[in-house]
Amino acid sequence: MQVLPLLPTVADADLLGALDATLVRARGSALYRDRLAGMRIGTFDDWARVPITSRGELRAAGLHGLRAVPLERVCHYGESSGTTGATNAIWLTAADLERSADAIRARHADVFGPGRIVLNRFPFMAAPAHLMQLIAQRGGGVAIPGGNINWDVPFPRALELAHRTGAHVLASMPLEPVVLGEIARARNLDPATDLAVDTLFLGGSPLPPAMQRRLAKTWRARVIELYGSTETMLLGTSCEAGTLHLETSLAYCEVVETESGGDAHLIVTTIGIEGSPLVRFDTGDVVRLLGGPCRCGDRRPGIVVLGRAAEALELAGRRLYPYEVVDAAAAAADALDSSVFFVVVLADRLLVRIEDAGGGGDPAAALAGRLGGVPCEVERVAPGMLLDVEMLSRSPHVYKPIVVSDWRTPGRRLLTVVEGMIEWPRPTLSEGRRWLSRTLRTARRRRQLSREARLARPGGD
Ligand SMILES: [Zn+2]
Repeated sequence: MQVLPLLPTVADADLLGALDATLVRARGSALYRDRLAGMRIGTFDDWARVPITSRGELRAAGLHGLRAVPLERVCHYGESSGTTGATNAIWLTAADLERSADAIRARHADVFGPGRIVLNRFPFMAAPAHLMQLIAQRGGGVAIPGGNINWDVPFPRALELAHRTGAHVLASMPLEPVVLGEIARARNLDPATDLAVDTLFLGGSPLPPAMQRRLAKTWRARVIELYGSTETMLLGTSCEAGTLHLETSLAYCEVVETESGGDAHLIVTTIGIEGSPLVRFDTGDVVRLLGGPCRCGDRRPGIVVLGRAAEALELAGRRLYPYEVVDAAAAAADALDSSVFFVVVLADRLLVRIEDAGGGGDPAAALAGRLGGVPCEVERVAPGMLLDVEMLSRSPHVYKPIVVSDWRTPGRRLLTVVEGMIEWPRPTLSEGRRWLSRTLRTARRRRQLSREARLARPGGD
């Protein structure tokens, strides 16, 4: 195992002191009490003897296993759900959240400042949603808490909020500006000219260059990448030169090359967390280190996050990370002047389905240029087939729950509690026809591909 420390821009003695303090804090938790018993950090050789913590060990530690402070000092509970459904439980203090929020605001004072309106579309359960609110409360602007995956702020309302308030920043997961952009266009609004958004602050899934370029162009906005996790909190944000710099004041990062070769995992020790400190936590994120100084002048290390090792695809003798797949697909879609694509991984190829917006480029060439050697197929589909804007705009209305309905006054005549809470809009006949047509076409394509997959299997009929 080869370990590559990503040295922050502080003196060794300061760093060793911070690591030692983290160890002492971590011993307050059940997970680290015995593991780190008696250990002190005076030199980097001491540090090299500290064991790595895996995601599995975090899960096994249980609900309170990572908590290193009394419950009375905790203000925030978060959990990450793994692909297996098991969760890691994280307990944070108010100061833990403030440190991440302040670091973001300090790095991006031009984005988060007084008078700047931030449409906060991060899901309520995800930590960035709370960091955005906190940034605003601490002087970094006006936050609109419009979490997505939330029926009270469906996509059309989010767009209306951005439009009506003149929001400057859209803070969300990377797909959000794609969806809002399509809904805007369906309403004859151009995100580049009809909305005041000048910054897309995006995190939570891979955000490769082709996707960043497309979003920057269609929104005429700067894209800032946010990197972190529920367990580690803030790990970095990207600079004006597009480099994702590690937040070395909050986390000590190392890159560990696994014995299987190739994969370089990011190992994180949280310097800035007291509620649930982590010591040499293997994030499972595969990263690429950027060499040389960044042209923005920031001396902190830059990385590219390729995605979770567990999510890598083996295809045609190549190992592809989500970052590479999304980058290639976004570039192919851009060739058709589209932001909307969907990738299906089949036994023998990647099927890249793209809503054709009439661009004159060559999507197959864009794919081949990035995924050389991996068989790919481009399937052009009609606008609306992958991202049905009509359907998304028909989200239900949700109301404050009531148990009394007065039929004598005009308005809705309710008979049940559920009717009072949710109202599904009725589609018009033509909307219904279009929805049925898209659904049938998708079902037919699914049957074709399923049949093909069956035939391709050895012993298939
Ligand atoms: Zn930079």
